[in-house]
Amino acid sequence: MAISDLRDKLDSKQISAVELTKSYLDKIHKFDTNINSYITVCDEIALKQAKNAQKRIDNKNAAFLTGIPLSVKDNICTDKIKTTCASKILSDFVPFYNATVIERLLNEDAIILGKTNMDEFAMGSTNETSYFGKVKNPINTDYVPGGSSGGAAASVAADFCAAALGSDTGGSVRQPAAYCGVTGFKPSYGILSRFGLIAYASSFDTIGFLTKSAKDIAYLMNATAGKDSKDATTISVDNDYTKFLDMSIKGLRIGIPKEFFDDELSENAKKAILSVAEFYKSCGAKLVDISFKSFAFAKEAYKILTSAEASSNLSRYDGMKYGHASGEGETYKAQICSARSDGFGNEVRKRILFGGFVLSAENYDNYYKKALSVRQAIKNEYNEIFTKCDVLLSPTTATSAYKFRNENSEFISNNIADKYTMTANLAGLPSISSPCGYDNNNMPFGMCLTGKNFDDARVIAIADIFEKHYNQTTGL
Ligand code: GLN
Repeated sequence: MAISDLRDKLDSKQISAVELTKSYLDKIHKFDTNINSYITVCDEIALKQAKNAQKRIDNKNAAFLTGIPLSVKDNICTDKIKTTCASKILSDFVPFYNATVIERLLNEDAIILGKTNMDEFAMGSTNETSYFGKVKNPINTDYVPGGSSGGAAASVAADFCAAALGSDTGGSVRQPAAYCGVTGFKPSYGILSRFGLIAYASSFDTIGFLTKSAKDIAYLMNATAGKDSKDATTISVDNDYTKFLDMSIKGLRIGIPKEFFDDELSENAKKAILSVAEFYKSCGAKLVDISFKSFAFAKEAYKILTSAEASSNLSRYDGMKYGHASGEGETYKAQICSARSDGFGNEVRKRILFGGFVLSAENYDNYYKKALSVRQAIKNEYNEIFTKCDVLLSPTTATSAYKFRNENSEFISNNIADKYTMTANLAGLPSISSPCGYDNNNMPFGMCLTGKNFDDARVIAIADIFEKHYNQTTGL
């Protein structure tokens, strides 16, 4: 059930917050051994939170999220609850503070069921790089759930929570949402505080939400968005994300970027996205052909810049200050070297090395600086595109989820899986993925709407319009 339905049930006393929480916990304990979407389940904390939430409901001053059980990706810090980033190096790290977003959810008396599995340090697109084992797609367990918020997406798709918090650096909320048939939203950079989100690539990272509906996202954003003195990159904007729900889209200009409909896009996905476009047209929107030339350079720029930032961000894990202290050796340097070699998985090590390479004195101009120019070109081109249209419609991913493959699959899939989503992160734009069809293998895929900076409320509302139509026509 979507949060809005649960809200009604809680307020009308058809179910209590404790009963609801227990039902999710039971389901997790029974069925998640197979899916592996949670790293930590917090029975005791969740039930205590549920009791408090019920008091608030009984006093008739429930907020939208009071008593609503959520899952939290394991790279978002939670006070006294283990936060591992799905890594060995942080496998026993217990933060003593909450991320700002968590603090705001708890202010509404939302319930935290546990921490979800992910690719190690949010690096990956299949959830195979977790130190705690891979996550399986609940729709078909032979298939990957996507990544890096694969546990989050699976927890929503398997109904192990009402909604999930994830993080998106290049597509990690939207891509697994598409693979698991749920809605995923990455807000404009600067709207949700990153305080307490363990950094991968700070100028790309955003916290985001995975839900059963776009409407739920609007309410989750209302509860969590806004300026935070603990994150200097947050800004003040009008934080009402429900204000455009049910708006008319007559005259809205929907851009179709032709570069996103390339040879790698599956025929089914293409057909489904074009029928979404037709649906919007039937509601009075205008379709506009768009060309996005710098798209061709996005992948390389993304790789260079995110690896560079990761190599710097992850230098703090030395086995001395945080968690895992397996370091051996005679000297301080030898100990750090051994703790890092032992504590990081292959994918993370690869990116740290690559990041160090592109930032080194002899390579800086050739790689890092050029990638920054490409990023600026992408931002400029987006600004120009948004003079011609109000929102862009594209596929979220080139294909639907695929079967677990050999050990090289991460590298192959990474290149393809995020190519349509990462440009929004390069430019800091709001972007949402909603389910829109099924592939030949009966796995879902998603359509993606991307808007201009800080137009988050409109992007959510446009997705909501399609979702209502899709649910009605498919009976889902
Ligand atoms: N798959 C991409 C990467 O590994 C995106 C990850 C993310 O958004 N956190 O970089």
